[in-house]
Amino acid sequence: MKNEKQDHPNIILIVIDALRARNLGCYGGETTASPNIDELANNGIQFENCYACWNTTDQSLTSIFSGRYPRTHGIVHHGDKVTLEDMMAFRKLDAKLLAEKLRENGFKTLAVDWMGRWFKRGFDFYGYKRDKNIWQKFLYIVFTLPYVHLRYMAANISLLRIYSKIRKTSVPSVWKGLKSVWNTFRFTFELARVQDADYVTKFAQRLIDDTKDDHFFLFLHYWDTHTPYNCPKKYMDRDKSRRGSIDTIASKYKGAVNYVDKCIGDLITTLKNHQILEDTLIIITSDHGESLTEREMFFDHHGLYEVTTHVPLIFFNPKLFSQPKKIQGLIQHVDLVPTVCDYLGMNDKDLGSDGISLRPLISGTREEIRDFAFFEESYVQRKIGWRNKRHKYIYAPDGIGLCKYCQKVHAGVEELYDLEKDPEETHNVVSENKIMATQMRAVLDGMIQKLKTKRKQLIGKKGLTRTDLEGLQDIADQKKIKKKLRSLGYMD
Ligand SMILES: [Zn+2]
Ligand SMILES: [Zn+2]
Repeated sequence: MKNEKQDHPNIILIVIDALRARNLGCYGGETTASPNIDELANNGIQFENCYACWNTTDQSLTSIFSGRYPRTHGIVHHGDKVTLEDMMAFRKLDAKLLAEKLRENGFKTLAVDWMGRWFKRGFDFYGYKRDKNIWQKFLYIVFTLPYVHLRYMAANISLLRIYSKIRKTSVPSVWKGLKSVWNTFRFTFELARVQDADYVTKFAQRLIDDTKDDHFFLFLHYWDTHTPYNCPKKYMDRDKSRRGSIDTIASKYKGAVNYVDKCIGDLITTLKNHQILEDTLIIITSDHGESLTEREMFFDHHGLYEVTTHVPLIFFNPKLFSQPKKIQGLIQHVDLVPTVCDYLGMNDKDLGSDGISLRPLISGTREEIRDFAFFEESYVQRKIGWRNKRHKYIYAPDGIGLCKYCQKVHAGVEELYDLEKDPEETHNVVSENKIMATQMRAVLDGMIQKLKTKRKQLIGKKGLTRTDLEGLQDIADQKKIKKKLRSLGYMD
């Protein structure tokens, strides 16, 4: 049992990469899709309308950890495209991240993930490798390679085949594809295991076994729902498990959701066995969603449509939240850090969050804390957007809006959707609603200006700070990350 003197719960933050809210049973997905996550949601707090601040991992995860929009934390690019300027801006801000705050408050901080760079900050342990000597490595390769690694390779190759059909790739792109397969092969030893939910869970279970008597914060990053949807065959629809088609890939995504859910069930069992489930606050979210086929975006997370921006957010802790509740109000990832600080009684002024504590929504003193959710993208196309309860407005600031991934403009420079009448966002009604579009554009411009002003105030007088050295390490890590990310299917 945990030390009785500590009245804070342990915290487990689970980020399931590229998980669409709609694919969970508790968000209207198939009832068999996610029984374990559904049980947590049905006995905890489920936010029905949570939105990511950006649709790619680096910006979004930094928002989750910092409580800031990317425009104020500074990381406005993703993966291989993160620039020196991004990292300098982030470093200059000297932002305190959730793990740093929790460590200062006596938590042992642990993470199972491979992304590194600034995400490592504040963690006593951050990583995923447990083999310590050559003999252990050898055993791992012999016993795991045929299953996890080859499955991961096969998933990548079948996805590349589909990409080449859908995107009608020409010879140079096939060459790029081959390079990607080669990179996948080179990095498969590193990435395949940490992109397998069972591996991440078993690793986490060992960390919990070792730390259960301490007060811990554990961050788990599941990757199975990210391409190439590395899903064991038994979790796929049987009739779709052999055919190499769009349906097969979509079925792998669904299977991956089910697989991660099963592993989260295993994790809950471990907490129950140690009798610490009730002493643990479990938070489940995703950094962004995924477009499987919607809007002719195949197996990627570009676009600011609901499939990509609407994310799950679930809190479970029977002591903190004795009354289960489904909350409708619009919220964003930036609200997570202020909420955790609020419930733990920690002053969050030093974090300077852009978010708002969700406590009034949970306690019922308010039904809304935000009028709108604001989001952006910059990886394969540049778009900025926001939504209120009913409408969504999306704008391409370069005045063109070309998607480099699909080599086309998806829906013009300006988009407006009536989400009540058209939840799948298939009818751009901007030309019929010019006045509303102009008004929504003005709100968007106002939000951008507000964040720009805040950013100026935040870093205006600051020189380089305590994170200089860590920043240098971030830059070295960034070079390694470029190669790794290409093996995940990220093209130039
Ligand atoms: Zn991601
Ligand atoms: Zn596209």
